[in-house]
Amino acid sequence: MDRPNLARRVRLGIPALLITTVAGYGQGQAPPNRALALVGGIVYASPTEDPIRNGVVLIREGRIAAVGRKGAVSLPRGTRILDCSGLAITSGFWNSHVHFLERKWNPAARIPAPELTRQLQEMLTRYGFTSVFDTWSTWENTRRLRERIESGEVSGPGILSTGEALIPKGGKPPEMIPEILGFTPYDVPEVANAAEARAAAVKLLDSGVDAIKLYARTFSPPIAALPETAIQAAVAEAHRRGKLAFAHPTNLEGLLASVNGGVDVIVHTTPQSGPWGPSVLAAMKKRGVSLIPTLQLWRYEIRHDRVSAQDRFVNNGVAQLRAWLDVGGTVLFGTDVGYMANYNPGEEYALMAEAGMDFRQVLASLTTTPAERFGLSARLGKIATGLAADIVVLNQDPAKNIRAFADVRYAFRDGKMLFSSRK
Ligand SMILES: [Zn+2]
Repeated sequence: MDRPNLARRVRLGIPALLITTVAGYGQGQAPPNRALALVGGIVYASPTEDPIRNGVVLIREGRIAAVGRKGAVSLPRGTRILDCSGLAITSGFWNSHVHFLERKWNPAARIPAPELTRQLQEMLTRYGFTSVFDTWSTWENTRRLRERIESGEVSGPGILSTGEALIPKGGKPPEMIPEILGFTPYDVPEVANAAEARAAAVKLLDSGVDAIKLYARTFSPPIAALPETAIQAAVAEAHRRGKLAFAHPTNLEGLLASVNGGVDVIVHTTPQSGPWGPSVLAAMKKRGVSLIPTLQLWRYEIRHDRVSAQDRFVNNGVAQLRAWLDVGGTVLFGTDVGYMANYNPGEEYALMAEAGMDFRQVLASLTTTPAERFGLSARLGKIATGLAADIVVLNQDPAKNIRAFADVRYAFRDGKMLFSSRK
């Protein structure tokens, strides 16, 4: 029964040691009776707890069965041991701003499973992202991708998605833009007013998206903005159903329209504007928004411009994040991969540290904060008994080097190995 699955794992180069332990999870089969123990690493069970040196994480039936010091955790007979000496162990990471718009994801229903698994590794799981929030793609296609992952046929992260973004009337990019960006041609709802925004939100939410995404103001020509009343109407529809609203701000005007319109998550800083002053920060704080800084994106976005302009753009974003941290603002990690072609998040970690975040704050933005924001903290975000075994094993200790967060040895989701850097 396990054979096709085993064969696929062998092709992916997952260590033979683990095959009998991890194969078959998440496929509706009875999981193997053998547990897996990650032994000997430094365990950061959550951003606020003391690290456990020489720790053990015991995984059984897709869940965390125990965590503690080596010797203090009893291992069931026959437990497979994965030596993690010298490595660091954390909860699985969230990337709360990704896109499945590139041509490589379409048609998700027909791309061979090993190819999809490999592509998901290259963009996400090799960097420890066991959960992602897709904040604009073609929902019908992303839904199929998610179904194939959840059926166990494709190995990949948990996916939440907004589906198509709501675009201001007249703001849809010219047809050549998706082609230039390497995207599958897409259709997006353009809305002019509250009634159209509500109707577009209803249609998307009825089709099963997890949140809505509002393009409050376009970033590139043609420049157009959503009226605040349109934002309010779409947000109200999402909130009525217990769903969140994300917004792309672009500049101060778009940011304030989003915040005042009731949006929950701001998906970028706004380097096109000047610094965020006290009144902007107070409005954001009062509304309880979460911020996804996407600092690494800014150098990428204007990579054809002079380096001095690139430096200014990045520094604006870093200063905005610093100001947001100073008022105690909430931060979610996200990089905009799938739009940004550079998948490696290492630079994002370095820039977050430059803005003043220590490794525990960065870890929170990757784990507990998104799990809480998205209503999943009963299952995800920490290494704790009973939670899903979504776990990242890093080659280095992120307390000593912030870029270690991008240096992943293994990634597990529901106890199943999604990625190993060992061939
Ligand atoms: Zn984006």
